[in-house]
Amino acid sequence: MRDVIIKFLTLQEMEQKTIASQAVLSQIPDRLAQALGEREKIQTELLENKAKLGAARAELKSLELDMEQLKELKSGNKLRQTRVSSEKEYNAIYKESEVIKARSTEKEEATLALMLTLDQLSASVPQLEAALAEATRLSAEANRAIESDRKRAQNEFDEATRQREESLASLDSSLAERFLSLAANRHGKILAPVSRGTCLACNMSIPPQLFNELQRVDKLMVCPNCHRLMFWRDDPGLGLATPESAPAPVAPKATKKGRAKKSSTSAAG
Ligand SMILES: [Zn+2]
Repeated sequence: MRDVIIKFLTLQEMEQKTIASQAVLSQIPDRLAQALGEREKIQTELLENKAKLGAARAELKSLELDMEQLKELKSGNKLRQTRVSSEKEYNAIYKESEVIKARSTEKEEATLALMLTLDQLSASVPQLEAALAEATRLSAEANRAIESDRKRAQNEFDEATRQREESLASLDSSLAERFLSLAANRHGKILAPVSRGTCLACNMSIPPQLFNELQRVDKLMVCPNCHRLMFWRDDPGLGLATPESAPAPVAPKATKKGRAKKSSTSAAG
């Protein structure tokens, strides 16, 4: 039964690798869109500002024409002021001159405001062009990184799938089926290590009787709580080194491992 556990552990590892590489692959389209997003945002702003700049220049031209016309009206009005023949006529000419003045002020103010906008827009264009070039460079860089991640994940997926198929084929068909039914909807968490009577997958204690049976390693058993396939983690036959079972690294008591380490350090030095 131990060899089945070992095969299942290998299969679980392959299962987890295929899931992890699939997750990387599934994120690729989003990552590509994100890499393009910033560049597109800048490009849109640049196009918008160029259009605004064009419109502002056209508006300035029309304001200049208006001012030109007002200037002509003003000089005509001044000329008529020199030839005035009655008070009534004078009042009419005066009223007209006030209207021309007010409109001129209005147009001058509009021109000043527009010139300020034009300055800002003109300055923004080269800035946005530089930002666009940088964003283009970054997005190309991101695309290369994403493509390399995609290739790596695809290779990992293919390799893990191949090994998984191979391992499944080496199993008894009923055991292979058992594994596949356990694997379905478990997100790669198929086996549950059990240590000192506790299932480490769900952290629940299992009945002592069940734990005793598990330690005999003679049949496949399922955790009564999380329904994963249990295995005795501290089974010496599995040879699983775990941080919990390993001796403390700084223990002063000389162990065989400690001595081995010491001698390897002195040999290196
Ligand atoms: Zn459990």
